[in-house]
Amino acid sequence: MSMTEETIFTKIINGDIPSDKVYEDDECICIRDITPQAPTHLLVIPRKPIPRLVDASDEDKALLGHLMLKVGDIAREAGVGDGFRVIINNGANAGQTVFHLHLHILAGKTFSEGMV
Ligand code: AMP
Repeated sequence: MSMTEETIFTKIINGDIPSDKVYEDDECICIRDITPQAPTHLLVIPRKPIPRLVDASDEDKALLGHLMLKVGDIAREAGVGDGFRVIINNGANAGQTVFHLHLHILAGKTFSEGMV
């Protein structure tokens, strides 16, 4: 898929395909990942279709801050505020498959120390 085509997350945001939504506001939505990699696996997705983190620009500064703060709020609300990981896959080489920026919240399993 070209990075400029409508992604599955835009279709979800527009209500064209269903999702298990746990939060939404004017800037973002949060849904349950359809293929969870942990007992809690949520995706925080800006409504603005920024393809990858590296495609964000200075005008997105407030939006990126908003997403980070919402990650904390949503994790607390989900009961996992004391232990969760936040992952952004940037680019196909990092395993990104949906080219619409999203933050993974993963929790509910034992993570090893370190990153991978
Ligand atoms: P990434 O590899 O970082 O691009 O992550 C994309 C994520 O979107 C994967 O974890 C998928 O399981 C998830 N995903 C793909 N389609 C859907 C969908 N329709 N609803 C919820 N999550 C989805």
